[in-house]
Amino acid sequence: MSASTSERIARWVRPELRALKAYHVPPAAGLIKLDAMENPYGWPPELVDEWLERLREVSLNRYPDPGASAVKARLREAMAIPAGAELTLGNGSDELILLIDLALGGPGRSVLSAGPSFSMYRIIALTAGLDYHEVPLAEDFALDAEAMCSAIAREQPAVVFIAYPNNPTGNLFDDAAMRAVIEAAPGVVVVDEAYAAFSSRSYADALERYPNLLLLRTVSKMGLAGLRLGLLAGHPDWIEQIEKCRLPYNINVLTQVSAEFALEHRAVLEAQTARIRSDREHLRGRLEDMPGLKVWPSEANFLTFRVARGRAGAVADGLKRAGVLIKNLDGGHAQLADCLRVTVGSPEENEAFLTALQPLL
Ligand SMILES: *Cc1c(COP(=O)(O)O)cnc(C)c1O
Repeated sequence: MSASTSERIARWVRPELRALKAYHVPPAAGLIKLDAMENPYGWPPELVDEWLERLREVSLNRYPDPGASAVKARLREAMAIPAGAELTLGNGSDELILLIDLALGGPGRSVLSAGPSFSMYRIIALTAGLDYHEVPLAEDFALDAEAMCSAIAREQPAVVFIAYPNNPTGNLFDDAAMRAVIEAAPGVVVVDEAYAAFSSRSYADALERYPNLLLLRTVSKMGLAGLRLGLLAGHPDWIEQIEKCRLPYNINVLTQVSAEFALEHRAVLEAQTARIRSDREHLRGRLEDMPGLKVWPSEANFLTFRVARGRAGAVADGLKRAGVLIKNLDGGHAQLADCLRVTVGSPEENEAFLTALQPLL
């Protein structure tokens, strides 16, 4: 008799994959969406018209430029990537995380990160067949250099991921601690600067000094989340190996043309991100004034805050009933008990959030 589906799955799907939950995106229809670090602003109508004109020239019957050279050159310029570094592009930086893990994976290989951090580091490591180790962050989410270096010595991870600024805590890490980790790692260290547009510091200039440093960036948080485009910069020899794992034509032709266009007009995006940075400080001040609420400083386009013990679920539900979707971090990680994360939206959206929050505290 042939095996049932559940028997076949138990036999053929790896236990760590069976144990994993697929990444969940909550429905947001009709809600003010402050849960996913999107830029709330669109483009002026003239710019939209110009973009649509550009799309007319696209040949959908042809494969895209496999190396996406035009958009790569624009990204290199827009993101001030040092001349000695090589680039590869991904369908979002999530895909690049997968490509790094595929390139450096294999029996007994592992990924290490400092947590709480971006949940995809663990999910992608496990799906790609690597082990995952997480070193707890210290007080106020600081990078614990000593704990990181001893875990690195013990586990010999192929890849270390550090989000800078960190998601979901919003902070940057101490430079001496970062350098200690980069110097201690036996393999590569990926500094994930998804929030570079909102941050006062970057490791782009450190690429020349550390050949085992890889820099991950994305256009998502700066206002182009729908395009799905990320970039990885690093030593040409590392990029050459990682490129072997990239599927041909992973950056589709609409993304290439649209990203090129958007980056030609990046002053528009830069004005929006500058606005978001200043609105972040205003929003933080307003949250700080609310009794019983702790809010952490942020170098990203979101703020993480803690409410009274046991109240995070009720606050998130109450906000949703009032039409505002934010992220409840409670239950996901011991250090994030009673914490929530709100994306900085437009001034009107931020006001709606604050108005709905006040009576829930
Ligand atoms: C949002 C985010 C990403 C994913 O970016 P995409 O380019 O949209 O895939 C990567 N890293 C961190 C830390 C993020 O917060």
